[in-house]
Amino acid sequence: MCIRDSTYTIDNELLIKINPAWMTRQISEISNKNGDYYYRITSLKPINPDNRADAFESEALFFFEKNRKEKYYTKFEKNSFNFMGALEVKQACLECHEEQGYRLGDVRGGLRVTMPLHNYNDKIKLIKSNSLSLTAAVIFIALFLSIIVVYFINSIYRRQETIESLNINLEDRIKSRTEELEDSVKKLNELATIDFLTKIPNRRYFFELGHKLFSLAKRDKTDFALIIIDIDFFKKVNDEYGHFIGDEILKIVSTTIQDNIRTSDLVARIGGEEFIVLLNETSCDGAYIIAEKLREIVKEVKYTHEGFDVSVTISMGISCLKNEYDSELDDILIRADEALYSSKANGRDRVSIYKA
Ligand code: GH3
Ligand code: MG
Ligand code: MG
Repeated sequence: MCIRDSTYTIDNELLIKINPAWMTRQISEISNKNGDYYYRITSLKPINPDNRADAFESEALFFFEKNRKEKYYTKFEKNSFNFMGALEVKQACLECHEEQGYRLGDVRGGLRVTMPLHNYNDKIKLIKSNSLSLTAAVIFIALFLSIIVVYFINSIYRRQETIESLNINLEDRIKSRTEELEDSVKKLNELATIDFLTKIPNRRYFFELGHKLFSLAKRDKTDFALIIIDIDFFKKVNDEYGHFIGDEILKIVSTTIQDNIRTSDLVARIGGEEFIVLLNETSCDGAYIIAEKLREIVKEVKYTHEGFDVSVTISMGISCLKNEYDSELDDILIRADEALYSSKANGRDRVSIYKA
């Protein structure tokens, strides 16, 4: 026995420090009395002869000597399962075992455990059944989680699809609403600038564009002429044939005028049966030729109604830009109006150029 140290507790109890082999032996003796398991410490060169290795233990210890890296050795016997764990020599072991010739790292013995085989089999079965239930539980949980994950991914995709189809719907609606708006703006624009009956520019449009063209002509010192046109005795047409026929005549006259001027010129309906023609880069003489042509053509146009031919004549007044006097479009207009008045006064169906 190798006693290394001893001490007293506060209750005056003597505690003796003993070596691990002796301690293991004492524990194994107590343990071996109580159970099916048998365990003890053993060595090929024991200090205590009672620890001498039996056949299995010798076999295991020789195995450790040959295979330095192995830490345990097992063997099944008829009714038992034997296990031997290698005990390596540590620094502390040398204090008692150095005299036996051991060096650090040597295997000086082993801890042997023997378990009855029925007990071992029961334990293995228990472990296997436990691991089977565990595997089943893991598979079940994994399946359950996979289903939840797939469900969530699916619902995200479905939501995404719904959002995308809503977006497409919204884009379509915005597109058609924009087209409707553009259409409305176009119609409003037309309503504001086109005469609803004759479909030629209205008074407002004429003055908007007329002011600009007047300024350009004045700046560039180019010719610029206005012809005011008034249908003769139109009230009589209405009275004789009715308002509807009067409207048709208004449409025919406006179309005839528009068809017989240049596209660079501008015609507009500025009153009930009054029209105006703005001629760019045209002198009064040029305007007179055009006015005469219009007078002749309009006179020849006939509207047939219930076997009757209805036709009208027009009177016109012409005035041209006098660059040194005219500061605005109205200056020319007033003169053209005066010329028209002359045409009316002189018998109608004629053209007059304003003469100062
Ligand atoms: P004048 O030769 O002096 O110009 O005689 P007039 O009868 O043409 O002139 P007046 O000013 O006396 O009459 C113009 C007529 O034009 C009166 C009105 O009923 C008619 N008129 C104005 N606008 C329209 C319209 O949009 N449709 C129709 N059918 N008639 C209209
Ligand atoms: Mg009139
Ligand atoms: Mg008239």
